[in-house]
Amino acid sequence: MEQQSRTLRLSADRAEEIQTAGNLLKSGGLVAIPTETVYGLAANALDGRAVAAIFAAKGRPMDNPLIVHISQLDQWAALVSEIPPRAMELANRFWPGPLTIILPKSPLIPDEVSAGQATVAVRFPSHPVARAVIDAAGVPLAAPSANLSGSPSPTEAQHVLADLDGRIDAVLDGGPCRVGVESTVVTLAQEVPRLLRPGGITPEQLSQVLGRVEVDPAVMNPLAAGEKVLSPGMKYKHYSPKANVILVKGNLSAYLEYVNSRAEEGVFALCYDGEQEALRVPAVAYGAKQDAAGQARHLFDALRKLDQMGAKVVYARSPQPKGVGLAVYNRLIRAAGFEVVELG
Ligand code: AMP
Ligand code: MG
Repeated sequence: MEQQSRTLRLSADRAEEIQTAGNLLKSGGLVAIPTETVYGLAANALDGRAVAAIFAAKGRPMDNPLIVHISQLDQWAALVSEIPPRAMELANRFWPGPLTIILPKSPLIPDEVSAGQATVAVRFPSHPVARAVIDAAGVPLAAPSANLSGSPSPTEAQHVLADLDGRIDAVLDGGPCRVGVESTVVTLAQEVPRLLRPGGITPEQLSQVLGRVEVDPAVMNPLAAGEKVLSPGMKYKHYSPKANVILVKGNLSAYLEYVNSRAEEGVFALCYDGEQEALRVPAVAYGAKQDAAGQARHLFDALRKLDQMGAKVVYARSPQPKGVGLAVYNRLIRAAGFEVVELG
């Protein structure tokens, strides 16, 4: 699709503007919509041409498949070859919500959505505006995060505009996102379920329903060159601000000593709440140390703020990779391009 000259600003507070978003989507347009995870860049999932325009607008590699969003559980069956009992159990427990389930796809799914995979990722979001837009469009919506490929995901409408103004038809402003990191992705297209991307639903929660769940090595570690991945999204540089982020592991006093001894122009800190005062460099906090959900909600906004403030180098306090913290760690270590400093 040709580039749009103007991106319409719509408000989710007005029912007729949600309908406008639905109409744009119905006619093959691209609309950024709020969900409980991050803002999604939506298109009609059953229209290969509309879906191709998502890749163009984001600069997304064509081999990175998209998640299809539904607003009713009964829309799922048409998108997949079959729904095994364990998939239905997962859906009953966690949908609507921040969980994406991968199954073998049905012929309805255009190749652009699945990007060459035999599977399709589906999510039933809980955000009332996301569901209202899907209803208004009357079709399932393919929607990756509504940012330029590689940059931090958008958790507010203004983040979407910072990246995509003029490249998409509209953005529907529904306020800040509650979860703040993308959905948990689990594949059931193999015998042992596998976590491909951590998110708001934790591995422990998945295991309560599924029993054994493998965690894909790419969740925590960099891929070896040429290694084949189940989730193509994991092989790309991701969630990265312009600044060079370095993840610092160690206790608070070691962190302070390390960062303070490197204070100079362009050096910034990404720390926990309440730690700014002890730092001799400008600092942005991304949540309280023990509050992984709060960290998830604020991380991407914090990364964008650091760029706006002119950060060149960012020393980031490493989150605890447990529970929802696993998702925070997964995003931050990618933002850092796996550059880690271990103190003592
Ligand atoms: P995003 O929409 O930007 O949140 O990215 C969607 C994520 O889901 C990417 O990491 C994709 O690689 C992953 N994904 C989507 N569909 C599939 C699929 N069929 N198989 C494996 N991973 C998928
Ligand atoms: Mg993304």
